[in-house]
Formats: sequence, C-alpha cells, structure tokens
Amino acid sequence: MATFWGPDFGELERTDPEIASVLLGELARLRGGLQLIASENLTSPAVLAALGSTLTNKYADGYPDRRFYPGCAEVDRAESLAIERAMALFGAGHANLQPHSGTSANLAAYAALVQPGDTVLAMDLPHGGHFTHGSKVNFSGRWYGTVGYHVREDTETIDYDEVRDLALAHRPKMIICGATAYPRLIDFGAFRDIADEVGAYLMVDAAHIIGLVAGGAVPSPVPYADVVCATTHKVLRGPRGGMILCRAELAERIDKAVFPFTQGGPLMHVIAAKAVALHEAARPEFRRYAHQVVANGRALAAALAAEGMRPVSGGTDTHLALLDLRDLGVTGAEAEQRCAAARILLNKTAIPYDPRKPAFASGIRVGTPSVTTQGMREPEMREIAGLVGRAVRAVSGAPALAELAEEIGTLVAKFSAYPT
Ligand SMILES: *Cc1c(COP(=O)(O)O)cnc(C)c1O
Repeated sequence: MATFWGPDFGELERTDPEIASVLLGELARLRGGLQLIASENLTSPAVLAALGSTLTNKYADGYPDRRFYPGCAEVDRAESLAIERAMALFGAGHANLQPHSGTSANLAAYAALVQPGDTVLAMDLPHGGHFTHGSKVNFSGRWYGTVGYHVREDTETIDYDEVRDLALAHRPKMIICGATAYPRLIDFGAFRDIADEVGAYLMVDAAHIIGLVAGGAVPSPVPYADVVCATTHKVLRGPRGGMILCRAELAERIDKAVFPFTQGGPLMHVIAAKAVALHEAARPEFRRYAHQVVANGRALAAALAAEGMRPVSGGTDTHLALLDLRDLGVTGAEAEQRCAAARILLNKTAIPYDPRKPAFASGIRVGTPSVTTQGMREPEMREIAGLVGRAVRAVSGAPALAELAEEIGTLVAKFSAYPT
C-alpha cells in the first residue's frame, strides 16, 4: 500500500474524544437501523478516503489550468478527471463539479439562464417540487416570479396539458422539471417541446435520479435539457455535493455562474471524491445496483400497499415511493415518529392535494438506495414492509416499538452497513 496520510481515528480519539464519540455513535446508528430516507445512501470506503484527504487544504479558485493560486497541478488532475468522467458517463457536452450542493447547483443554473424578476415555471412544492423551485423562503421565490404546475388529481402524475397551458399563458424564461417527491418517470421530451414552443430554457433538476440515469435504470434527461442540475450524494452514492451538466454552448455561462458568481474556493477533497464516485458509477456493478434499486422500490411499494398504505400514483418507476396513510388513520408525522422509535428512518411527506398541514402531512416517503447498497433484495423489501406496517400501526406505543427495533437489529446484522 502506498503511504497515505489518511484519517487516523486514534489521533482524533486523543485530541477530541467528544467528536470521536459522535463518529462512533453515527456509525452504530447506520449499522443498527434501516435507512429508508430516499435522498440518502452509503458511500464507499474509496469515496471516504478521498474525502478525508489533504486536498481539503488547497485553495483553487478557478478551473483546471486557469487558477488564481499556484500549486494546483494535483488538484487540477482530480477536477479534470471528475469532469471527463461526468461527461463520458452522461454523454454531456460539459460538466461542472464545483457546486457545494444541489441547492448551489440550482442557484448557479438560475444565475446562468435567467435574470431577477424573470418568470420560471416549476412544479408546485406540495406536489413534489423542491424548495429551490420557487419557494418564498428561498432565493428562487424571492428573486424570480414562479408559476407552479401540478399533478392531476385522478392519476397523481404530471398534468402536461396544464404545463403547456401555463407556459403559453405566462411565457416563462425557464421551465424546471425534476422533483423531490415524485415516484414516476418524467417525460423530458414533452417538457422540451413545451419549452421550445415558448422559447424557454429547460432545466432538469435530476438531484434524485441522476444515479439511476448513470446506471441506465431510467431515461436520461441530458439529450433534452439545456442544463441538468444534480446532487452527487443521493442514488449516485458519492460525497455530499452538486454537479451541473450542460450543452457545450452553455459551458462558459455555467462555469462563470458557479465561480465567481455564486461560490469561492472549490472543495477539492469533495471534487476528488466525486471523481471516485463517478468512476464507480461507470462500472457494471453499478448498473446492476441501479436496476436493483428500482426493482426494490417497486417491491417495497407493492408490499406496503398490502399493508394498507396507498402508493401515490399507484406505484413507482424509481427508487422512491410515496404512501398515503389516510386509510390507516395515521398522519405522516406520527408514522415518521413511530418508525424512528423502531429504528426505521423514513420521512413524512405531503401527498398531492393533501388535506393536512405540511407539519402533519398524510403520507410518508420511502427509498431504497441505502438498503440496496447493503445488499438487500425483493425478499427483504417484503420483510421491511411488514416491519414498517407494524411500526406505523403501533398504537400500543413504546413496548411494541422496542420489540420491533430488536427484530430490525437482527435483519440489518445480516446486511451490515460498513461491515467490519
Ligand atoms: C435534494 C434535492 C436538491 C438539493 O440538494 P442539496 O444538496 O440538499 O442542496 C435540489 N433539488 C432536488 C429536486 C432535490 O431532491
């Protein structure tokens, strides 16, 4: 093994036992429970090695071979590899790996494509959109005029007729598709046609699905979009961060919108870790992983339906499902709490046309990226659905949930996250 100044846990235990105990506690939490939060995953040891490296020390404002600091030859290699790997994996004309997060990627895309005051057409938040798609508490809703489109009440899938009508009526400068809580495939071609009809840019926010795209498990938005924004830490299983893919003609505008317009020095250790994740995602194992994530998503949604939870839109084509709990008489908030007490981590979610306030919500969102990384398949999805069903219905409270937590301990011991 080459000499590598890597993470030394003994050193951390000596200098900062309080934070060392947080790291141990978090590892135990990951190993001891079921991670069903749809936006989370478990990174590989190789990704963690790049993250915990001396590259965190380097100031490298600018881009490879165009830096504002000396000494960037090594980090230039990391960023060039990350860019090349992203372009090759997604067939994109250009890639920018510097956004610190999905939100930062979206901020840069707005900055590159629209001016403050311009109108943007995006999915309404309670119907699955992200808060960077026009929420009043976010830059997007403060600085841009937002018009929201919806899912149909009967099918709970995107109402493309409404999208077109709103586009024709409001003439947006940019249309956004891509969601945080939408289980179905999105028809990127239909959005492209609508954008062309009104002369708008099409930005696809593929934060959730980009890992499924990498593994060929869902269609790619890249051929249709002007700009694709994504995260690297969801299904893609890389370090926490953002990424932008775009057509070659937009490369300079996107790069300038990231640095210097919205960010300063890039996180070079994170960019190196993104390169590692993109390398992993190009391998046949990752294709199998992405397809299994979707197969598990379908199996989990079907098995939860058998537990009396109604899958929104009837099921899923992706890694996540939304379940309407109204037939069980349980709110999303109650379900989230009961499951957490049984060491099942999932989150409450508003369902389309939800009669309850968002703080309570009528649904839960579940996802399969983490449990699939742990090696679980369809039989375990059915087992998990049974456990979730018992937790959600656990009116008797703490004793039943403690018993469940023990059963979950037995299941996850067979599929350990970060096995020793
Ligand atoms: C997760 C997500 C983001 C934001 O990513 P962060 O890294 O949390 O900032 C943006 N858009 C969508 C659709 C997402 O699901």
